[in-house]
Amino acid sequence: MASKKVIAVFGATGAQGGPVVRALLDAKHFAVRALTRDVTKPSALALKDLGAEVVKCDLDDEASLVAALKGVYGAFLVTNFWEYLDQEREVRQGKLMADVAKRLGLKHVVFSSLEYIHKLSGGKLTVPHFDGKGIMEEYFRSIGVPMTSVRVPSYFENFHGGLKPAKASDGDYYTLALPMGDKPLPGISVADIGVIVSNIFNSPEEFIGKAMNLGAEALTMQQYAEILSKGLGKDIRDSKITPEAYEKLNIPQAKGIANMCRYWQKNPERDVELTYRLNPKVRSFQQFVSESVKAFKDI
Ligand code: NAP
Repeated sequence: MASKKVIAVFGATGAQGGPVVRALLDAKHFAVRALTRDVTKPSALALKDLGAEVVKCDLDDEASLVAALKGVYGAFLVTNFWEYLDQEREVRQGKLMADVAKRLGLKHVVFSSLEYIHKLSGGKLTVPHFDGKGIMEEYFRSIGVPMTSVRVPSYFENFHGGLKPAKASDGDYYTLALPMGDKPLPGISVADIGVIVSNIFNSPEEFIGKAMNLGAEALTMQQYAEILSKGLGKDIRDSKITPEAYEKLNIPQAKGIANMCRYWQKNPERDVELTYRLNPKVRSFQQFVSESVKAFKDI
């Protein structure tokens, strides 16, 4: 029997790449090369136990990229803006990967991108954690790498971390602070994107050259708060913070996040139908909360 084609997965130890590795292994159409800078860490060893080949690779190191991508059919690429908070570095990494993919003749790259908000807003809004991905996406196209761009919206999992309901100082309730006004914020459980990406690799003729805005559903902050309140038995409210107040907060990328919300308030469209076609088991926010109550235990 001919050996399986190989997909290399960047960010394999992370929130996006992990589910991609697992879904590809479950589907059994491809062999998986899981890439990490540290092949000895527990999350890397766990992928080896599942059946992935675990290979050392650093997006800042061209020689390691060439070695890791040699002989593969395709790759899933996610770059991590938040590790360095440096758009130029993120773009450099993505362009280097694109150059190597081109040189080695990869047949399909699925790139975890985001909207190029600076360009789409005619230069009015700058969102470093989005704009770099838009620049990389254009670069992939300009050099002719066969690529599908998947734009993943806000993870539902953010409500376990950065978007966790915060205890109010003036009463027995919690607040969600994201300046969306009364407009819906598109979301998805990042755990559900693995099957989507796996199915994209299974249909290259349909998806190469496409850009897709994924999303399970889009809810207002008030609706997120209501579902969290019911699911967790706490009083959780939308803080109703404005973009102007948010961008003055002393948190990394406050201005970029405020601008992201300004953009999303006007452009909430996501392809929910396609998202469900590619993974019929994509969870609603309500399902996500009821299945992950324990992860909220410290609120
Ligand atoms: P994560 O869980 O923090 O994992 C980051 C991954 O990136 C790790 O697996 C890490 O691998 C890998 N990595 C970092 N630097 C690397 C390098 N120099 N070379 C090779 N691998 C490197 O992150 P994630 O959530 O999967 O992905 C982060 C990206 O998702 C960000 O760019 C963010 O903008 C984007 N995003 C986030 C959301 C959201 O709602 N949070 C929504 C859409 C898009 P090792 O440490 O094992 O080497």
